[in-house]
Amino acid sequence: MKCKIIDFRNPCSVPTETEMAVRRPAPTKSNTRILMTNDKKETNRRLASDDKRYLWHPFTQMRDWETDDPLVIVRGKGSYLFDALGKKYLDGVSSLWVNVHGHRKKEIDDAVIRQVKTLAHSTFLGLTHPAAIELAKRLVHIAPPGLERVFYSDSGSTAVEIALKMAFQFWRQNGEEGRTKFLSLKEAYHGDTIGSVSVGGMDLFHDIFQPLLFETIKAPAPYCYRCELGLTHPDCGLACAEELGELMRKNAACLAGMVIEPLVQGAAGMLVQPPGYLRRVRELCDNHGVFMIADEVATGFGRTGTMFACEQEGVTPDFMCLAKGITGGYLPLAATLATDRVYEGFKGEYADFRTFFHGHTYTANPLACAAALANLDVFGNENTLATLKPKIRHLRHELMKVEDLPHVGQVRQKGFMVGIELVRDKRTKEPYPLPEKRGIRVTVEARKRGVIIRPLGNVIVLMPPLSISEGELKKLVDVTHKSIKAATA
Ligand SMILES: *Cc1c(COP(=O)(O)O)cnc(C)c1O
Repeated sequence: MKCKIIDFRNPCSVPTETEMAVRRPAPTKSNTRILMTNDKKETNRRLASDDKRYLWHPFTQMRDWETDDPLVIVRGKGSYLFDALGKKYLDGVSSLWVNVHGHRKKEIDDAVIRQVKTLAHSTFLGLTHPAAIELAKRLVHIAPPGLERVFYSDSGSTAVEIALKMAFQFWRQNGEEGRTKFLSLKEAYHGDTIGSVSVGGMDLFHDIFQPLLFETIKAPAPYCYRCELGLTHPDCGLACAEELGELMRKNAACLAGMVIEPLVQGAAGMLVQPPGYLRRVRELCDNHGVFMIADEVATGFGRTGTMFACEQEGVTPDFMCLAKGITGGYLPLAATLATDRVYEGFKGEYADFRTFFHGHTYTANPLACAAALANLDVFGNENTLATLKPKIRHLRHELMKVEDLPHVGQVRQKGFMVGIELVRDKRTKEPYPLPEKRGIRVTVEARKRGVIIRPLGNVIVLMPPLSISEGELKKLVDVTHKSIKAATA
Protein backbone atom coordinates (compact mmCIF):
# COMPACT_ATOMS: atom_id res chain seq x y z
CA MET A 1 0.00 0.00 0.00
CA LYS A 2 1.24 3.47 -0.86
CA CYS A 3 1.30 6.14 1.79
CA LYS A 4 0.33 9.67 0.89
CA ILE A 5 2.20 11.49 3.61
CA ILE A 6 5.93 11.08 3.79
CA ASP A 7 7.06 10.57 7.35
CA PHE A 8 10.56 9.21 7.89
CA ARG A 9 9.72 7.88 11.32
CA ASN A 10 7.11 5.67 9.78
CA PRO A 11 8.62 2.70 7.92
CA CYS A 12 5.63 2.41 5.59
CA SER A 13 6.20 5.98 4.52
CA VAL A 14 9.36 5.74 2.46
CA PRO A 15 9.44 8.35 -0.31
CA THR A 16 9.46 7.08 -3.87
CA GLU A 17 12.34 7.83 -6.20
CA THR A 18 10.45 10.63 -7.92
CA GLU A 19 9.54 12.13 -4.58
CA MET A 20 13.20 12.06 -3.60
CA ALA A 21 14.31 13.41 -6.97
CA VAL A 22 12.49 16.67 -6.40
CA ARG A 23 13.96 17.06 -2.94
CA ARG A 24 17.11 19.00 -3.59
CA PRO A 25 19.43 20.84 -1.26
CA ALA A 26 18.53 24.44 -0.50
CA PRO A 27 20.04 26.79 -3.07
CA THR A 28 23.05 28.91 -2.32
CA LYS A 29 22.90 32.57 -3.25
CA SER A 30 24.99 32.02 -6.35
CA ASN A 31 22.62 29.57 -8.00
CA THR A 32 19.25 31.20 -7.40
CA ARG A 33 19.23 32.96 -10.78
CA ILE A 34 20.16 30.20 -13.14
CA LEU A 35 17.12 29.92 -15.22
CA MET A 36 17.52 31.21 -18.77
CA THR A 37 20.23 29.88 -21.10
CA ASN A 38 20.58 29.82 -24.88
CA ASP A 39 19.91 26.11 -24.91
CA LYS A 40 16.11 25.75 -24.96
CA LYS A 41 16.09 22.18 -23.72
CA GLU A 42 18.40 23.03 -20.85
CA THR A 43 16.38 26.12 -19.94
CA ASN A 44 13.21 24.09 -19.95
CA ARG A 45 14.78 21.37 -17.82
CA ARG A 46 16.04 23.86 -15.23
CA LEU A 47 12.75 25.72 -15.04
CA ALA A 48 10.77 22.50 -14.71
CA SER A 49 13.04 21.18 -12.03
CA ASP A 50 13.00 24.38 -9.97
CA ASP A 51 9.24 24.60 -10.34
CA LYS A 52 8.89 21.12 -8.89
CA ARG A 53 11.34 21.95 -6.13
CA TYR A 54 9.85 25.27 -4.98
CA LEU A 55 6.24 25.72 -6.09
CA TRP A 56 2.76 24.77 -5.05
CA HIS A 57 0.15 25.21 -7.80
CA PRO A 58 -3.55 26.08 -7.42
CA PHE A 59 -6.16 23.32 -7.75
CA THR A 60 -3.34 20.85 -8.40
CA GLN A 61 -2.54 17.48 -6.86
CA MET A 62 1.17 18.17 -6.46
CA ARG A 63 2.02 14.49 -6.24
CA ASP A 64 0.86 14.10 -9.86
CA TRP A 65 2.48 17.40 -10.83
CA GLU A 66 5.87 16.29 -9.54
CA THR A 67 5.85 13.22 -11.77
CA ASP A 68 4.57 15.03 -14.89
CA ASP A 69 6.45 17.32 -17.26
CA PRO A 70 5.20 20.81 -16.49
CA LEU A 71 4.48 23.01 -19.46
CA VAL A 72 6.54 26.18 -19.07
CA ILE A 73 4.94 29.08 -20.93
CA VAL A 74 7.41 31.81 -21.85
CA ARG A 75 5.56 33.91 -24.39
CA GLY A 76 2.13 34.75 -25.79
CA LYS A 77 0.89 36.24 -29.05
CA GLY A 78 -2.71 36.58 -30.23
CA SER A 79 -4.57 33.33 -29.52
CA TYR A 80 -1.33 31.41 -28.90
CA LEU A 81 0.99 30.56 -26.03
CA PHE A 82 4.59 29.37 -26.56
CA ASP A 83 6.47 27.02 -24.26
CA ALA A 84 10.16 27.11 -23.34
CA LEU A 85 10.94 24.63 -26.14
CA GLY A 86 9.32 26.91 -28.72
CA LYS A 87 6.19 24.81 -29.28
CA LYS A 88 2.99 26.79 -29.78
CA TYR A 89 -0.42 26.13 -28.26
CA LEU A 90 -3.84 27.56 -28.99
CA ASP A 91 -5.12 29.15 -25.76
CA GLY A 92 -8.56 27.48 -25.74
CA VAL A 93 -9.56 28.75 -22.29
CA SER A 94 -8.25 32.33 -22.52
CA SER A 95 -5.70 31.63 -19.77
CA LEU A 96 -8.47 30.62 -17.40
CA TRP A 97 -11.23 32.82 -18.76
CA VAL A 98 -9.45 36.17 -18.60
CA ASN A 99 -7.99 36.93 -22.01
CA VAL A 100 -10.24 38.98 -24.27
CA HIS A 101 -8.41 40.49 -27.25
CA GLY A 102 -5.49 38.03 -27.41
CA HIS A 103 -2.02 38.05 -25.89
CA ARG A 104 0.36 40.97 -26.44
CA LYS A 105 -2.44 43.24 -27.64
CA LYS A 106 -0.58 46.35 -28.70
CA GLU A 107 -3.05 48.90 -27.29
CA ILE A 108 -3.04 47.24 -23.87
CA ASP A 109 0.75 46.72 -23.87
CA ASP A 110 1.22 50.40 -24.67
CA ALA A 111 -1.26 51.58 -22.05
CA VAL A 112 0.48 49.61 -19.29
CA ILE A 113 3.90 50.86 -20.40
CA ARG A 114 2.63 54.46 -20.46
CA GLN A 115 1.17 54.05 -17.00
CA VAL A 116 4.27 52.45 -15.53
CA LYS A 117 6.25 55.48 -16.66
CA THR A 118 3.80 57.76 -14.85
CA LEU A 119 2.67 56.00 -11.67
CA ALA A 120 2.85 52.30 -10.84
CA HIS A 121 1.00 52.48 -7.55
CA SER A 122 -0.34 54.86 -4.96
CA THR A 123 -2.77 53.95 -2.24
CA PHE A 124 -6.51 54.39 -2.77
CA LEU A 125 -7.10 54.84 0.95
CA GLY A 126 -7.39 58.59 1.27
CA LEU A 127 -5.97 59.35 -2.20
CA THR A 128 -7.17 58.96 -5.76
CA HIS A 129 -5.72 58.87 -9.30
CA PRO A 130 -6.86 59.50 -12.90
CA ALA A 131 -6.93 55.92 -14.25
CA ALA A 132 -9.24 54.71 -11.47
CA ILE A 133 -11.52 57.73 -11.87
CA GLU A 134 -11.83 57.37 -15.63
CA LEU A 135 -12.37 53.63 -15.41
CA ALA A 136 -15.14 54.00 -12.81
CA LYS A 137 -16.89 56.49 -15.06
CA ARG A 138 -16.62 54.14 -18.04
CA LEU A 139 -17.83 51.12 -16.06
CA VAL A 140 -20.89 52.97 -14.78
CA HIS A 141 -21.56 54.10 -18.34
CA ILE A 142 -21.54 50.56 -19.80
CA ALA A 143 -23.14 48.75 -16.84
CA PRO A 144 -26.89 48.06 -16.68
CA PRO A 145 -28.68 51.34 -15.78
CA GLY A 146 -28.93 51.97 -12.05
CA LEU A 147 -25.49 50.75 -11.07
CA GLU A 148 -23.82 54.02 -10.13
CA ARG A 149 -20.87 53.31 -7.82
CA VAL A 150 -17.63 51.37 -8.27
CA PHE A 151 -15.69 49.77 -5.43
CA TYR A 152 -12.38 48.25 -6.56
CA SER A 153 -10.52 45.18 -5.36
CA ASP A 154 -8.27 42.63 -7.00
CA SER A 155 -9.96 39.28 -7.64
CA GLY A 156 -13.33 37.77 -8.33
CA SER A 157 -13.44 36.33 -4.83
CA THR A 158 -12.91 39.73 -3.22
CA ALA A 159 -15.46 41.35 -5.54
CA VAL A 160 -18.04 38.85 -4.23
CA GLU A 161 -16.93 39.18 -0.58
CA ILE A 162 -17.38 42.93 -0.89
CA ALA A 163 -20.91 42.63 -2.28
CA LEU A 164 -21.82 40.24 0.55
CA LYS A 165 -20.40 42.52 3.21
CA MET A 166 -22.02 45.62 1.71
CA ALA A 167 -25.43 43.93 1.51
CA PHE A 168 -25.10 42.66 5.06
CA GLN A 169 -23.97 46.01 6.48
CA PHE A 170 -26.65 47.89 4.54
CA TRP A 171 -29.45 46.08 6.33
CA ARG A 172 -27.73 46.29 9.74
CA GLN A 173 -27.68 50.06 9.60
CA ASN A 174 -30.90 50.69 7.71
CA GLY A 175 -33.50 49.28 10.03
CA GLU A 176 -33.69 45.62 9.00
CA GLU A 177 -31.10 44.01 11.23
CA GLY A 178 -32.74 40.64 10.81
CA ARG A 179 -31.62 40.39 7.19
CA THR A 180 -28.37 38.52 7.71
CA LYS A 181 -28.56 35.47 5.44
CA PHE A 182 -27.77 34.80 1.80
CA LEU A 183 -29.44 32.62 -0.75
CA SER A 184 -27.48 31.06 -3.59
CA LEU A 185 -27.75 28.24 -6.09
CA LYS A 186 -26.51 24.71 -5.73
CA GLU A 187 -23.43 24.12 -7.90
CA ALA A 188 -22.60 27.84 -7.67
CA TYR A 189 -19.02 29.04 -7.73
CA HIS A 190 -18.14 32.49 -6.42
CA GLY A 191 -14.46 32.13 -5.50
CA ASP A 192 -12.22 30.46 -2.94
CA THR A 193 -12.12 32.79 0.05
CA ILE A 194 -14.22 31.78 3.03
CA GLY A 195 -17.15 34.13 2.35
CA SER A 196 -17.35 33.34 -1.33
CA VAL A 197 -17.02 29.62 -0.57
CA SER A 198 -19.93 29.97 1.88
CA VAL A 199 -22.23 31.08 -0.93
CA GLY A 200 -20.74 28.49 -3.30
CA GLY A 201 -22.14 25.05 -3.84
CA MET A 202 -19.31 22.96 -5.25
CA ASP A 203 -18.88 20.11 -2.84
CA LEU A 204 -15.89 18.66 -4.66
CA PHE A 205 -13.79 21.76 -3.96
CA HIS A 206 -15.22 22.99 -0.72
CA ASP A 207 -16.83 20.26 1.37
CA ILE A 208 -13.86 19.96 3.68
CA PHE A 209 -14.23 23.60 4.78
CA GLN A 210 -17.84 23.16 5.88
CA PRO A 211 -17.19 23.87 9.57
CA LEU A 212 -15.64 27.24 8.69
CA LEU A 213 -18.45 28.49 6.49
CA PHE A 214 -21.46 30.63 7.37
CA GLU A 215 -24.87 29.12 6.76
CA THR A 216 -26.62 29.90 3.48
CA ILE A 217 -29.87 28.87 1.88
CA LYS A 218 -29.43 26.87 -1.30
CA ALA A 219 -31.89 26.77 -4.19
CA PRO A 220 -31.93 24.18 -7.02
CA ALA A 221 -29.46 24.82 -9.84
CA PRO A 222 -31.17 25.36 -13.20
CA TYR A 223 -29.29 22.36 -14.63
CA CYS A 224 -31.76 21.16 -17.22
CA TYR A 225 -29.72 18.16 -18.41
CA ARG A 226 -29.87 16.71 -14.90
CA CYS A 227 -32.94 18.43 -13.48
CA GLU A 228 -33.07 17.97 -9.74
CA LEU A 229 -36.86 18.18 -9.87
CA GLY A 230 -37.03 15.49 -12.57
CA LEU A 231 -38.72 17.85 -15.03
CA THR A 232 -38.08 18.84 -18.64
CA HIS A 233 -37.74 22.34 -20.04
CA PRO A 234 -39.89 24.10 -21.23
CA ASP A 235 -42.82 22.01 -19.95
CA CYS A 236 -41.55 22.57 -16.40
CA GLY A 237 -42.63 26.24 -16.52
CA LEU A 238 -39.37 27.15 -14.74
CA ALA A 239 -40.35 25.13 -11.69
CA CYS A 240 -36.84 25.57 -10.23
CA ALA A 241 -37.37 29.34 -10.16
CA GLU A 242 -40.68 28.84 -8.37
CA GLU A 243 -38.92 26.67 -5.82
CA LEU A 244 -36.44 29.49 -5.36
CA GLY A 245 -39.36 31.87 -4.89
CA GLU A 246 -40.81 29.60 -2.23
CA LEU A 247 -37.48 29.61 -0.34
CA MET A 248 -37.41 33.40 -0.54
CA ARG A 249 -40.97 33.68 0.72
CA LYS A 250 -40.23 31.45 3.70
CA ASN A 251 -37.00 33.27 4.58
CA ALA A 252 -37.77 36.80 3.41
CA ALA A 253 -37.38 38.43 6.82
CA CYS A 254 -33.86 37.08 7.28
CA LEU A 255 -32.53 37.37 3.71
CA ALA A 256 -29.96 40.05 2.92
CA GLY A 257 -29.36 38.99 -0.65
CA MET A 258 -29.33 36.39 -3.38
CA VAL A 259 -26.07 35.71 -5.23
CA ILE A 260 -26.19 34.39 -8.76
CA GLU A 261 -23.93 33.83 -11.77
CA PRO A 262 -26.17 35.31 -14.49
CA LEU A 263 -27.02 33.12 -17.54
CA VAL A 264 -24.27 30.55 -16.98
CA GLN A 265 -23.03 28.75 -13.87
CA GLY A 266 -19.46 28.54 -15.11
CA ALA A 267 -17.29 26.44 -12.81
CA ALA A 268 -20.17 24.00 -12.29
CA GLY A 269 -19.65 22.94 -15.90
CA MET A 270 -21.14 25.76 -17.96
CA LEU A 271 -24.75 25.22 -16.85
CA VAL A 272 -26.73 27.47 -19.16
CA GLN A 273 -29.91 28.84 -17.60
CA PRO A 274 -33.19 28.59 -19.52
CA PRO A 275 -34.49 31.85 -21.03
CA GLY A 276 -36.48 33.96 -18.57
CA TYR A 277 -34.83 32.44 -15.51
CA LEU A 278 -32.67 35.44 -14.65
CA ARG A 279 -35.53 37.89 -15.14
CA ARG A 280 -37.67 35.75 -12.84
CA VAL A 281 -34.92 35.86 -10.19
CA ARG A 282 -34.94 39.66 -10.40
CA GLU A 283 -38.74 39.73 -9.94
CA LEU A 284 -38.56 37.40 -6.96
CA CYS A 285 -35.83 39.50 -5.33
CA ASP A 286 -37.99 42.59 -5.85
CA ASN A 287 -41.08 40.89 -4.45
CA HIS A 288 -39.27 39.96 -1.26
CA GLY A 289 -37.05 43.03 -0.87
CA VAL A 290 -33.90 40.95 -1.29
CA PHE A 291 -30.76 42.36 -2.89
CA MET A 292 -29.74 40.68 -6.14
CA ILE A 293 -25.99 40.21 -6.43
CA ALA A 294 -24.92 39.33 -9.97
CA ASP A 295 -21.54 37.64 -10.08
CA GLU A 296 -20.44 38.56 -13.61
CA VAL A 297 -16.82 37.64 -12.88
CA ALA A 298 -16.86 34.97 -15.61
CA THR A 299 -19.68 36.24 -17.83
CA GLY A 300 -18.65 39.89 -18.01
CA PHE A 301 -16.80 41.61 -20.86
CA GLY A 302 -18.43 39.99 -23.83
CA ARG A 303 -18.25 36.32 -22.85
CA THR A 304 -21.93 35.58 -23.38
CA GLY A 305 -22.20 37.72 -26.53
CA THR A 306 -23.16 40.99 -24.81
CA MET A 307 -20.94 43.16 -22.61
CA PHE A 308 -22.69 41.79 -19.52
CA ALA A 309 -24.93 38.74 -19.20
CA CYS A 310 -27.61 40.68 -17.26
CA GLU A 311 -28.32 42.76 -20.37
CA GLN A 312 -29.75 39.76 -22.19
CA GLU A 313 -32.63 39.57 -19.73
CA GLY A 314 -32.99 43.32 -19.22
CA VAL A 315 -31.95 43.00 -15.59
CA THR A 316 -30.22 45.50 -13.31
CA PRO A 317 -28.89 43.79 -10.20
CA ASP A 318 -28.32 45.70 -6.95
CA PHE A 319 -24.67 44.64 -7.03
CA MET A 320 -22.54 43.50 -9.95
CA CYS A 321 -19.19 41.79 -9.41
CA LEU A 322 -16.56 42.07 -12.14
CA ALA A 323 -13.04 40.65 -12.47
CA LYS A 324 -11.48 38.12 -14.90
CA GLY A 325 -11.83 39.87 -18.29
CA ILE A 326 -11.83 43.41 -16.90
CA THR A 327 -8.16 44.06 -17.78
CA GLY A 328 -8.28 42.01 -20.98
CA GLY A 329 -6.40 39.28 -19.11
CA TYR A 330 -3.41 41.43 -18.17
CA LEU A 331 -3.47 42.27 -14.48
CA PRO A 332 -5.48 41.42 -11.38
CA LEU A 333 -8.31 43.87 -10.88
CA ALA A 334 -11.92 43.59 -9.75
CA ALA A 335 -14.86 45.88 -9.22
CA THR A 336 -18.09 45.66 -7.25
CA LEU A 337 -20.73 47.98 -8.67
CA ALA A 338 -23.62 49.11 -6.49
CA THR A 339 -26.79 51.18 -6.84
CA ASP A 340 -27.24 54.65 -5.40
CA ARG A 341 -29.66 53.26 -2.86
CA VAL A 342 -26.95 51.00 -1.46
CA TYR A 343 -24.36 53.78 -1.57
CA GLU A 344 -26.60 56.26 0.23
CA GLY A 345 -27.23 53.68 2.94
CA PHE A 346 -23.62 54.05 4.07
CA LYS A 347 -23.58 57.81 4.52
CA GLY A 348 -23.68 59.50 7.90
CA GLU A 349 -21.64 61.29 10.52
CA TYR A 350 -18.17 59.82 10.95
CA ALA A 351 -19.04 58.91 14.51
CA ASP A 352 -22.06 56.89 13.28
CA PHE A 353 -19.57 54.38 11.87
CA ARG A 354 -21.66 53.67 8.82
CA THR A 355 -18.42 53.63 6.82
CA PHE A 356 -17.68 50.54 4.74
CA PHE A 357 -14.58 49.39 6.60
CA HIS A 358 -13.03 47.29 3.88
CA GLY A 359 -10.09 47.75 1.51
CA HIS A 360 -7.11 45.96 0.03
CA THR A 361 -3.56 47.24 -0.23
CA TYR A 362 -3.55 47.22 -4.03
CA THR A 363 -7.11 48.55 -4.43
CA ALA A 364 -7.43 50.36 -7.79
CA ASN A 365 -3.83 49.68 -8.82
CA PRO A 366 -3.10 52.22 -11.59
CA LEU A 367 -1.38 49.71 -13.92
CA ALA A 368 -4.40 47.43 -13.75
CA CYS A 369 -6.80 50.35 -14.27
CA ALA A 370 -4.79 51.47 -17.33
CA ALA A 371 -5.02 47.97 -18.78
CA ALA A 372 -8.77 47.94 -18.12
CA LEU A 373 -9.24 51.28 -19.88
CA ALA A 374 -7.30 50.06 -22.91
CA ASN A 375 -9.36 46.86 -22.87
CA LEU A 376 -12.55 48.96 -23.13
CA ASP A 377 -10.97 51.11 -25.86
CA VAL A 378 -10.34 48.02 -27.96
CA PHE A 379 -13.97 46.92 -27.50
CA GLY A 380 -14.97 50.27 -28.99
CA ASN A 381 -12.33 50.64 -31.70
CA GLU A 382 -12.60 47.10 -33.02
CA ASN A 383 -16.33 46.67 -32.56
CA THR A 384 -15.54 43.48 -30.69
CA LEU A 385 -19.12 42.62 -29.75
CA ALA A 386 -20.42 43.02 -33.31
CA THR A 387 -17.63 40.90 -34.84
CA LEU A 388 -18.21 38.29 -32.15
CA LYS A 389 -21.76 37.48 -33.29
CA PRO A 390 -20.89 35.54 -36.48
CA LYS A 391 -18.07 33.77 -34.59
CA ILE A 392 -20.56 32.56 -31.96
CA ARG A 393 -22.72 31.10 -34.76
CA HIS A 394 -19.67 29.55 -36.37
CA LEU A 395 -18.70 27.96 -33.06
CA ARG A 396 -22.23 26.58 -32.62
CA HIS A 397 -22.04 25.05 -36.08
CA GLU A 398 -18.61 23.49 -35.45
CA LEU A 399 -19.79 22.02 -32.15
CA MET A 400 -22.49 19.94 -33.85
CA LYS A 401 -19.99 17.23 -34.70
CA VAL A 402 -18.88 17.06 -31.06
CA GLU A 403 -22.48 16.56 -29.96
CA ASP A 404 -22.65 13.41 -32.09
CA LEU A 405 -19.79 11.66 -30.29
CA PRO A 406 -20.93 8.53 -28.40
CA HIS A 407 -19.66 9.74 -25.01
CA VAL A 408 -20.81 13.33 -25.21
CA GLY A 409 -23.99 13.73 -23.18
CA GLN A 410 -24.62 17.40 -23.84
CA VAL A 411 -22.90 20.40 -25.40
CA ARG A 412 -23.85 23.67 -23.70
CA GLN A 413 -23.00 27.01 -25.26
CA LYS A 414 -23.71 30.60 -24.39
CA GLY A 415 -21.67 32.95 -26.55
CA PHE A 416 -18.04 32.02 -26.09
CA MET A 417 -18.65 29.84 -23.03
CA VAL A 418 -18.86 26.16 -23.87
CA GLY A 419 -19.23 23.06 -21.68
CA ILE A 420 -19.07 19.56 -23.17
CA GLU A 421 -20.36 17.00 -20.69
CA LEU A 422 -18.83 13.55 -21.07
CA VAL A 423 -20.87 10.53 -20.00
CA ARG A 424 -20.21 6.84 -19.78
CA ASP A 425 -23.65 6.08 -21.20
CA LYS A 426 -25.31 8.59 -23.44
CA ARG A 427 -28.76 7.03 -23.14
CA THR A 428 -28.93 6.81 -19.33
CA LYS A 429 -26.67 9.89 -18.81
CA GLU A 430 -24.56 7.78 -16.44
CA PRO A 431 -21.50 9.89 -15.60
CA TYR A 432 -17.93 8.65 -15.74
CA PRO A 433 -16.58 7.99 -12.25
CA LEU A 434 -14.28 10.94 -11.41
CA PRO A 435 -11.25 8.74 -10.56
CA GLU A 436 -11.14 7.77 -14.25
CA LYS A 437 -10.03 11.36 -14.91
CA ARG A 438 -11.71 11.39 -18.34
CA GLY A 439 -11.77 15.17 -18.45
CA ILE A 440 -8.08 15.43 -17.63
CA ARG A 441 -7.30 12.76 -20.24
CA VAL A 442 -9.05 14.81 -22.91
CA THR A 443 -6.96 17.86 -22.07
CA VAL A 444 -3.75 15.79 -22.16
CA GLU A 445 -4.71 14.56 -25.64
CA ALA A 446 -5.44 18.14 -26.71
CA ARG A 447 -2.10 19.36 -25.44
CA LYS A 448 -0.32 16.77 -27.59
CA ARG A 449 -2.17 18.32 -30.51
CA GLY A 450 -1.18 21.88 -29.63
CA VAL A 451 -4.31 23.08 -27.83
CA ILE A 452 -4.69 24.13 -24.19
CA ILE A 453 -8.09 23.36 -22.67
CA ARG A 454 -9.15 22.53 -19.12
CA PRO A 455 -11.70 20.18 -17.64
CA LEU A 456 -14.18 20.76 -14.86
CA GLY A 457 -14.63 17.18 -13.70
CA ASN A 458 -16.29 15.40 -16.63
CA VAL A 459 -17.01 18.64 -18.47
CA ILE A 460 -14.61 19.95 -21.10
CA VAL A 461 -14.52 23.73 -21.20
CA LEU A 462 -13.90 25.86 -24.27
CA MET A 463 -13.56 29.58 -23.60
CA PRO A 464 -11.46 31.12 -26.37
CA PRO A 465 -10.34 34.75 -26.52
CA LEU A 466 -13.04 36.90 -28.18
CA SER A 467 -10.42 37.85 -30.79
CA ILE A 468 -9.92 34.26 -32.03
CA SER A 469 -10.24 33.83 -35.82
CA GLU A 470 -12.74 31.48 -37.47
CA GLY A 471 -9.85 29.27 -38.62
CA GLU A 472 -8.49 29.02 -35.08
CA LEU A 473 -12.00 28.28 -33.77
CA LYS A 474 -12.26 25.40 -36.21
CA LYS A 475 -8.91 24.08 -35.07
CA LEU A 476 -9.99 24.37 -31.42
CA VAL A 477 -13.14 22.32 -32.01
CA ASP A 478 -11.42 19.82 -34.34
CA VAL A 479 -8.74 19.08 -31.77
CA THR A 480 -11.32 18.87 -28.98
CA HIS A 481 -13.30 16.42 -31.08
CA LYS A 482 -10.25 14.21 -31.74
CA SER A 483 -9.14 14.41 -28.12
CA ILE A 484 -12.53 13.38 -26.76
CA LYS A 485 -12.55 10.47 -29.19
CA ALA A 486 -9.09 9.38 -28.07
CA ALA A 487 -9.80 9.73 -24.34
CA THR A 488 -13.15 7.95 -24.41
CA ALA A 489 -12.24 5.16 -26.84
C1 LIG B 1 -13.40 32.80 -11.28
C2 LIG B 1 -14.66 33.19 -10.61
C3 LIG B 1 -14.64 33.79 -9.33
C4 LIG B 1 -13.38 33.96 -8.54
O1 LIG B 1 -12.47 34.85 -9.13
P1 LIG B 1 -10.94 34.86 -8.64
O2 LIG B 1 -10.35 36.02 -9.38
O3 LIG B 1 -10.36 33.54 -9.07
O4 LIG B 1 -10.96 35.03 -7.18
C5 LIG B 1 -15.84 34.21 -8.79
N1 LIG B 1 -16.99 34.04 -9.44
C6 LIG B 1 -17.05 33.47 -10.65
C7 LIG B 1 -18.38 33.33 -11.34
C8 LIG B 1 -15.89 33.00 -11.27
O5 LIG B 1 -15.95 32.39 -12.46
